[in-house]
Amino acid sequence: MADASEGRLFRRIHHLRCRERDLSAAITSLPRQSASLKTRLEKAKAARADAGEQIKTRQVSHRAKESAIKASTAQIRKLSEQRDASSSQDDFNALEREIAHAKAHISTHEDEILALLDEIDGLTAKLPDLDSGIAKAESESSTFDKEMPQKSKDLQESLEAVRAELATRDAEIPQEHQSAYRRVVAGRGPDALASLDGASCSACGTQQTASDIGRIKRLSFATCTECGRILYLTEKDEKELS
Ligand SMILES: [Zn+2]
Repeated sequence: MADASEGRLFRRIHHLRCRERDLSAAITSLPRQSASLKTRLEKAKAARADAGEQIKTRQVSHRAKESAIKASTAQIRKLSEQRDASSSQDDFNALEREIAHAKAHISTHEDEILALLDEIDGLTAKLPDLDSGIAKAESESSTFDKEMPQKSKDLQESLEAVRAELATRDAEIPQEHQSAYRRVVAGRGPDALASLDGASCSACGTQQTASDIGRIKRLSFATCTECGRILYLTEKDEKELS
């Protein structure tokens, strides 16, 4: 490989190494995405079950209060008969107080029933949304799982193509730069390379020497004086120079 195109080679290698990292991450994330969609479905089902439970609890409470009203009404009837048949003023007054007490009970229960019915209405109104939430989560989860094998296969194929090209490009690196390249790649992975940004390393921001900038602009091998990354010229900068 001629010295004058090393810059282009390292630019391509950087692209391939970043792509390799991204594709690997995408493949690893597939099962995680599937699990997270299943969790969302379970949460949607739990929310629906919880709303159903809350409605049921209020319905039970509603029925209990209606029974209590019925009992109080019967008690008032009985007390009224006793009061009408009472012979002393004291008995009459005592029964009147008991009747008033029972009526107050009924009134409290009636208010509570109205509040319960309001709550039941509010909860019932939310059910269609909760149901469609389940349907949506179910369809997203099953669609994802259905498409996952193909997605995984496509990503795997792209990854293999990237790795094949990377092996070819790696072999094109001139012998004298191989060990420097291997060392920095072993330490930094895809971040072993960086473009020149103006006069500085785009990764660490350190300004480069005039001689190194000259080398980079001539597409020759150069490393950042600070972080050791292999520096290259961006495609845009190369076009502007030519
Ligand atoms: Zn640097």
